[in-house]
Amino acid sequence: MSPPVQKVVSDERLPASADVVIIGGGIAGASAAYALAQKGHSVALLEKGVICGEQSSRNWGWCRQQNRDFRELDLARHSLEIWNRLSGELGVDVSFRQAGLIYVTKSQSDMAQWGEWIEKARNYNVHSRLLTATEAKKMTPGSVGDWIGGVHSPSDGHAEPSTAGPAIAEGARRHGATLHQNCAARGLETSGGRVSAVVTEKGVIRANAVLLAGGAWSSLFCRHEGLGLQQACVRSTSFFTAPTANVTEGGLSMDDVTIRRRLDGGYTVGLSGRGTVEISPQGLRYAKPFWPMFKERRAKLKFAIGRSFFEGPEAFMRWTNDRPSPFERIRTLDPSADPALVDKGVQFLRKAYPELADLKVMQSWGGLIDCTPDAIPVISAVESMPGLYLSTGYSGHGFGIGPGAGRLAADLIAGDTPIVDPHPFRYSRMIDGTNLGAPGMM
Ligand SMILES: Cc1cc2nc3c(=O)[nH]c(=O)nc-3n(C[C@H](O)[C@H](O)[C@H](O)COP(=O)(O)OP(=O)(O)OC[C@H]3O[C@@H](n4cnc5c(N)ncnc54)[C@H](O)[C@@H]3O)c2cc1C
Repeated sequence: MSPPVQKVVSDERLPASADVVIIGGGIAGASAAYALAQKGHSVALLEKGVICGEQSSRNWGWCRQQNRDFRELDLARHSLEIWNRLSGELGVDVSFRQAGLIYVTKSQSDMAQWGEWIEKARNYNVHSRLLTATEAKKMTPGSVGDWIGGVHSPSDGHAEPSTAGPAIAEGARRHGATLHQNCAARGLETSGGRVSAVVTEKGVIRANAVLLAGGAWSSLFCRHEGLGLQQACVRSTSFFTAPTANVTEGGLSMDDVTIRRRLDGGYTVGLSGRGTVEISPQGLRYAKPFWPMFKERRAKLKFAIGRSFFEGPEAFMRWTNDRPSPFERIRTLDPSADPALVDKGVQFLRKAYPELADLKVMQSWGGLIDCTPDAIPVISAVESMPGLYLSTGYSGHGFGIGPGAGRLAADLIAGDTPIVDPHPFRYSRMIDGTNLGAPGMM
């Protein structure tokens, strides 16, 4: 069942042309639309379903530098700066709160990994601090967990996914962008090798630049255009509870259960790293580059054969631009929650916090997370098709860096000095034989 998401009203008419067409109205596409429109470019944002109906409303809402891959840290810092000023800029509360994040653990190896990360992160102006067992206990009042320590990152925060992305899309509109929902992009037209237009189900929009920010669907769209993009999807489960006792103001991670206090007094609960990988034609195609990641995480993952083999973004699909595309067949990816994981989360919390003994689940949902083999995104031009740009592959942590990633994509498209070094996010690493290795921290 889909979690709630703020409704956005579509613009009535599809423009005949725009400086930039953005395919995908998740946080990546909406943030890029906002940054481009702020720079004065005309932008049409296309969404096959509803704005932020997929991953961008199904996540936990954590916006963090803590435990990130170092290649993403500058982008994470810029994103926190943008989150901090967004509500003021937009004149609406985007629900960002810099309430800090706490991780506690019973594992020596977690402590060692976090300690090492903090040591290396000193060069990045990060404010994280390791916690002793006593401090971990003090920072989790009411918990009966016998934590051996933890880490606290006071400058990290959280936002409410159901409203933040839609508010950013509305912000783009205020700067002149147009928003088109139930409007799938079927494919691209080129002229002299350059992108010249996007073919949508409602008509053609001419454009010199196109940004593909299609989340789990990006690889399928690329395949249709003859481009390779190594992507794999993991189905994860989350749920939210009825308002209950206040045990933390920010985000809290305990073993593999995470909680984030919502503005309504309930919690959004996640099961960190746990999920299902469905075997699919796309999965088989990219099995080799993803092997190091899945090997490292297989203890927490289930592998299964399901509908993904025959339908959805990872299936084998072909179409022509004059016929309905797979994007029109599934307006919103809405995988079901895994009831065993919901139960695991509930039991864990009731045990860890006697105050939460009456915890009541209000709604649970699944979300298909799109990953790259090195677990960092692609935010880049596609050299072989001038005019095409990608912003995708956020690997389970793109909500927090969405605003900065949108700005980076806008800088690249506008030809402006990029806010961060874009080299780690280049598309070419996917196709030039670069050994992507295993992911860094997630
Ligand atoms: C359970 C869960 C927990 C998570 N927790 C966190 C967290 O706490 N912090 C964090 O930073 N990240 C988190 N993430 C990850 C984060 O949600 C994603 O990385 C981020 O939302 C990706 O944004 P996106 O815009 O790239 O993709 P999406 O939000 O998936 O948006 C892509 C959009 O493109 C549209 N689209 C695709 N193809 C087409 C087409 N051809 N035409 C038109 N539209 C198209 C889709 O309909 C979709 O709406 C979590 C994810 C999940 C599922």
